[in-house]
Amino acid sequence: MTTPRLQHVAVIGGGFSGTMAAVNLARLSPAPLRVTLCNHGSPAGRGIAYGTRRPEHLLNVAARNMSALADHPNHFLEWLRTRTEYAAVPEAELRETFMPRRVYGDYLRSLTQHYARPVDARACVEFAVVDDEVLALEATGTGARLRLASGATLDADKIVLATGNEPPADLPGSATVATHAAWCANPWLDWETRIPATGDIVLLGTGLTTVDAIVTLLALDWRGTIHAVSRNGLLPESHFKGVDDPLFPPANVDLATLGLAGLVRLLEEHCTRLRAAGLNPAMVVDKMRPHTQRIWGAFTDAERREFVAQHAARWNVMRHRIAPSIHRQVAGALESGRLKITRAAVTGVKPLGGQIGVELRDRAGATSLLAAALAINCTGPHTRFSATRSPLLQHLLTSGLAQPDAMDMGIRVEPDFAVVERGGRRSPFLCAIGPLLRGTLWESIAVPELRGQALRVAQTLLDAGAPAPAEAAVIEYQI
Ligand SMILES: Cc1cc2nc3c(=O)[nH]c(=O)nc-3n(C[C@H](O)[C@H](O)[C@H](O)COP(=O)(O)OP(=O)(O)OC[C@H]3O[C@@H](n4cnc5c(N)ncnc54)[C@H](O)[C@@H]3O)c2cc1C
Repeated sequence: MTTPRLQHVAVIGGGFSGTMAAVNLARLSPAPLRVTLCNHGSPAGRGIAYGTRRPEHLLNVAARNMSALADHPNHFLEWLRTRTEYAAVPEAELRETFMPRRVYGDYLRSLTQHYARPVDARACVEFAVVDDEVLALEATGTGARLRLASGATLDADKIVLATGNEPPADLPGSATVATHAAWCANPWLDWETRIPATGDIVLLGTGLTTVDAIVTLLALDWRGTIHAVSRNGLLPESHFKGVDDPLFPPANVDLATLGLAGLVRLLEEHCTRLRAAGLNPAMVVDKMRPHTQRIWGAFTDAERREFVAQHAARWNVMRHRIAPSIHRQVAGALESGRLKITRAAVTGVKPLGGQIGVELRDRAGATSLLAAALAINCTGPHTRFSATRSPLLQHLLTSGLAQPDAMDMGIRVEPDFAVVERGGRRSPFLCAIGPLLRGTLWESIAVPELRGQALRVAQTLLDAGAPAPAEAAVIEYQI
């Protein structure tokens, strides 16, 4: 009698999404299973966001909403209690704390460490972490073969694609400065060793990555001038304590049936009402969070495109808020003149001797040039999927094993995360989670949503192929 072959799930990408998909497979599998987590680039179990070693980089979500396990809401808080420095913090205070991201990385690493062992005594799950880049997939009769950069191959029955955030897109002229000492194309790689003694630092973008760079420069007590440039010149707002607002969303209105124009009208009405009452209108964005994926799903493609073109910038400023202590530091830097915000489009970058020339055009059409002793591209993750620089994702597109979603913001998937091939067939072995689903779900970048995906994809794979219901993508979000 032959022993049945162990089912093998390979997870590609070891940031939050992939790590937690692998952990959920390992902890929930009722039967023997092999799980391999392939990760390359940022540290496995941490990914880009939680791989930072800088203590001043804080989470932008309070500890109470950062459990990595969707079925165990207090898991992060309980883990924090195991650390001496947080053991005696009053519960109410701990819940509202914005922890250092590197501490959150420790939390994810400890979860990986707990499950990544040759054989789990309870469920006989074999969980291995492989440090290698997956370059290509080939369909086999029973699943797919992964081709790794080292030349090794790995055969798996099912594959979870969790390749996460890509570095920012190139800017006009990037190629001319690619190897310039004063140019940093990837803000998530170590640039602290290249901080100039004199001159200005120019941050291209005014979002969360820019804020990371600003607080690092302040923490290092760098004394030069920091410029941050973007079209709207808007920095992220601070988190604040919301109040109970029974009027939004209105009880008799299903937000997903309004269409974009109706929704914008409703939001404007309520923002005006809240402002008049002296309240922060960003409250409506928080109250919408549990409904956002359903609303986005109900929009037509034309409405989605219009939202991205007309409203996304403003939405992002209200939605992606920062810890109050970080906001105070940024406000202080603005007040003291150490930080200057320029509202203009970056039309190009070019070498300017030992510096980088950043070419700008403002709304009135006036052009100017900023000289940067260090210029950092902080424009946020690259989101045009068909132009991905990932060899694996390019391979999936050219081989027809995947196709872009209708917005070309990510990969096309079914509601249960199964990838849709170029011909429209549902992939028998490949599913995808994480920021790759931005175009399908819009809200698919932060832990409160990603932990639900990581659980759901594991449950679906363990459920002998029974697909999860369509509404599986919408998970609970605590305000
Ligand atoms: C700077 C920053 C701060 C953030 N802060 C927060 C926060 O405070 N709270 C919050 O909720 N969200 C935050 N986010 C959002 C963040 O997107 C998610 O929380 C989460 O970290 C995304 O994880 P991921 O695994 O999907 O992607 P990633 O973290 O990008 O991880 C993907 C991993 O896959 C690897 N990989 C890619 N391709 C391959 C391949 N072919 N082979 C092998 N490995 C591969 C990458 O190198 C990387 O290690 C932040 C994001 C950023 C960028």
